[in-house]
Amino acid sequence: MIMDHKALSQLLFPDVKALPEDMEKQFPPRQLPEGACVTRIGPSPTGFVHLGNLYNAVIGERLAHQSGGVFYLRIEDTDDKRKVEGAVETLINAMAYFGVRFDEGAAEEGDKGAYGPYRQRQRKDIYHVFAKDLVERGLAYPCFLTAEELEAIREEQMANKEDPGIYGRYAEPNRSLTLEEVRKKLDAGESWVLRYKGEMNDERITVSDAVRGNIEMPRNFMDFVLLKSDGIPTYHFAHVVDDHLMRSTHVIRGEEWISSLPMHVELFKVLGWEQPVYCHTATLMKVEPDEEDPSKLKKRKLSKRKDPELALSYYQQEGISKDVVWEFLLTLLNSNYEEWRTANPDKPYTDFPYSISKMSVSGALVDLDKLRDIAKDTIARMDAETVYKNWLSWCEEYDKGYADLIKKYPERTMAALNVGKNGKKPRKDIETWKQACEFMSFYYDETFKVQDDMNEQAEEAVQKEFFRKYLESYDHADDSAAWFDKVKAITEELGFAVKPKDFKKEPEKYKGSIVHITNMLRIALTGRANAPDIHEVSHVLGEDMVRARLSEWV
Ligand code: GLU
Repeated sequence: MIMDHKALSQLLFPDVKALPEDMEKQFPPRQLPEGACVTRIGPSPTGFVHLGNLYNAVIGERLAHQSGGVFYLRIEDTDDKRKVEGAVETLINAMAYFGVRFDEGAAEEGDKGAYGPYRQRQRKDIYHVFAKDLVERGLAYPCFLTAEELEAIREEQMANKEDPGIYGRYAEPNRSLTLEEVRKKLDAGESWVLRYKGEMNDERITVSDAVRGNIEMPRNFMDFVLLKSDGIPTYHFAHVVDDHLMRSTHVIRGEEWISSLPMHVELFKVLGWEQPVYCHTATLMKVEPDEEDPSKLKKRKLSKRKDPELALSYYQQEGISKDVVWEFLLTLLNSNYEEWRTANPDKPYTDFPYSISKMSVSGALVDLDKLRDIAKDTIARMDAETVYKNWLSWCEEYDKGYADLIKKYPERTMAALNVGKNGKKPRKDIETWKQACEFMSFYYDETFKVQDDMNEQAEEAVQKEFFRKYLESYDHADDSAAWFDKVKAITEELGFAVKPKDFKKEPEKYKGSIVHITNMLRIALTGRANAPDIHEVSHVLGEDMVRARLSEWV
């Protein structure tokens, strides 16, 4: 008996009244300038926000905003099992922390944009319009296979060394159900999924990928699932419907989706839609010493369990500036970024002409040492005001006590952040906001601590004599040269070598060198032998604090 597909579609979707053309009208092509890209990220709210989410966001954001297009956030929450309370907020917050600007999509204060809803679970009715259409056209059917039956099929296929999945003879029984049989099963409350009717064939398809060039693979022959038993679509169906109706021009996603391309290509074709440009990005990798032979390095995928740096929360908690993370990702993404940065040290990264064709296809290496170097350079390039603002905003969230401290002494903090900034080789003391709290702690009595050992520089009696003399001759108004002359004079008076190399040559002749003397000053003023310029630091602290700290040693 020939199946009445229209009747089947009514039976399966009795409440769906809208037609595909209604959807087309409701979400018309966007009016954008020629060449404008419409891109998105489609993260799943699992509670874990991945560096890969940001990696793809950077590409999408750059492509869209460089071309006068639109970048949006779509929440891909079709997998209920992976859903975690508060995960959407976590995601939105993380993207905001990293300064990712969406023009449209899911947002905390309510979703915005004319192409929504932007959360897949809220789009059920939209998917059903197309699901019904596919059934009516004889391209999709309900499948009542139970979990046990699916398992038995899987075992049989394994034993026969066949491709796993539902196709050919495995699909036949459900494909050939009559309308009456379907009705009976539905009335009996049997659970069903909607499957696409794949065509057995040995054809091949070629998909042009903007990152990888042409990808050739077998055409789809599977009866893959379009709607799950709760009526929620699979990723494959949702991707095609959403990226068409939201008018994405480019789909930027991880390379793990390449193997699903045959299903996506098939759906775009039967639905009569233009395929977006696919950009499958490289998996994030890391290099580490081989466990068996530590003299060799080994490349491996970043793992959620082993590598904290895979989670965006790591960068937030460590206080790695959003600008640093962007610089780092752009360096990873475009091989010519570093060269551009060296030639344009003062330009914002948004001036860099990002290009997909310069992306690497082999794994992207996440190297934390490289990140640290980029961090130091990036923060060294920022003016003190920007550093203050960004650092404070991190402290407000992650270290309230410290935020209060730097708000209590804004002028001193600003002056401290300017120390060593204006020379030819600006200091690169700050790497992360968390480490800035530690590094800057000596500027505040509340957090100042002597960390290095004064006794390594000179014996106690000499220490006392030195600090007494230094305080006696100290004039806060001295400029750096006058100040240093006085330090040299005391050095000599105490029997220390003014030139470190003299002490090296004839150590028995001296008590030490000027290095020991200045180290004593640094330890007394900053708690550490390794610290910024003493004269500059003294002027940030002010005369009272200088005298008070030095007097402790007399
Ligand atoms: N929800 C998918 C994921 O998290 C998104 C893939 C895509 O961008 O299409 O991997």
